Amino acid sequence: MSTLLTGIGELVTNDPERTGDGPDGRIGVVERAAVVVEGSRVAWIGPAADAPAADAVVDAGGRAVLPGFVDSHSHLVFAGDRAGEFAARMAGTAYAAGGIRTTVAATRAATDEQLLSGARRLVDEMLRQGTTTVEVKSGYGLTVRDEARSLAIARTLTEETTYLGAHVVPEGTTPEQYVALVTGPMLDAAVEHARWVDAFCERGAFDVDQARTVLLAGMERGLRGRLHANQLGPGPGVRLACELGLAAVDHCTYLEDADVDALRDSGTVATLLPGVEFSTRQPYPDARRLLDAGVTVALASDCNPGSSFTSSMPFCVALAVREMGMTPAEAVWAATAGGARALDRDDVGVLAVGRRADLVLLDAPSHVHLAYRPGVPLVAGVWQRGRPVLGATTLPAG
Ligand SMILES: [Zn+2]
Repeated sequence: MSTLLTGIGELVTNDPERTGDGPDGRIGVVERAAVVVEGSRVAWIGPAADAPAADAVVDAGGRAVLPGFVDSHSHLVFAGDRAGEFAARMAGTAYAAGGIRTTVAATRAATDEQLLSGARRLVDEMLRQGTTTVEVKSGYGLTVRDEARSLAIARTLTEETTYLGAHVVPEGTTPEQYVALVTGPMLDAAVEHARWVDAFCERGAFDVDQARTVLLAGMERGLRGRLHANQLGPGPGVRLACELGLAAVDHCTYLEDADVDALRDSGTVATLLPGVEFSTRQPYPDARRLLDAGVTVALASDCNPGSSFTSSMPFCVALAVREMGMTPAEAVWAATAGGARALDRDDVGVLAVGRRADLVLLDAPSHVHLAYRPGVPLVAGVWQRGRPVLGATTLPAG
């Protein structure tokens, strides 16, 4: 079964073989384009006038199509919400890492079914906004049982699961005791359900030596490393991530020149999470500085109930453009191909022959509208692994 998606006014491919000069050069635009999808993969891309025949046809009506968003950072397995804490913060209370403990208590008290239905609702919400690949972390269990079941639940929704036992030190234990648990019995229980290991390296959470211990223990068991760092202030976390050759280090809000140099030299992706700065009234990270230095930048939602309860990658793109010095093309690349890099994936985030057919149809003529029309639900159709999951209709060919 093949489908021809034709009448595409602007196709964003992110294909390195199609990139060029100018502000949109990086995203490899093809105008008046068509895509042929066969099974779960892209089988052909080019000018609509040259498109081959297919079993079914979809007419995009001159609208824009881009790769599905790759959201490389989220915390979807939890119970309860923290709207009251958000309201208090907007009334002047500062954000502190310890608020995580509120969600931990609610998560431990929830059933597996409650946790799964909450996470599935958010994954569906993401899909409706064009996110076709999402990473999901544990980190609201903080016991052997609750971390393992959080990851097992996440695994039913995505292959990109991250063990974040080292989210915060729970009450009733010392940091030393807790790191021993996270690198011992908790890791034993988590490892079969996880692809990644992560830690929250920040004042009030884990220091750099503890973060290194957690990451190395996970990596020894075959997990790949990623890290939360430099969110609330400057610190050594970003340099640790670069030194260990992690795929990504996330937040990067407070950076010194040595951090930027280390990111550029190591190739570790800097994942920026502007929903957090929006929701905590913190200063935004300086994406322009990173891009000008040659650092690879990704955008992700950090969807979580405490510091960023948005599931919307279009919202993150709009914030990145308005507040962080990115061009629309840079932000769209960071939210698609950049997210794929941050997950060490080459099958998503790029539209080219053989890649996964994850596509988003915008009810707009170009990708620029994602930032130009903030807050407007522009996602009109989504295909995931070649299957229409939102809005798309196929017409019989001919
Ligand atoms: Zn996070």
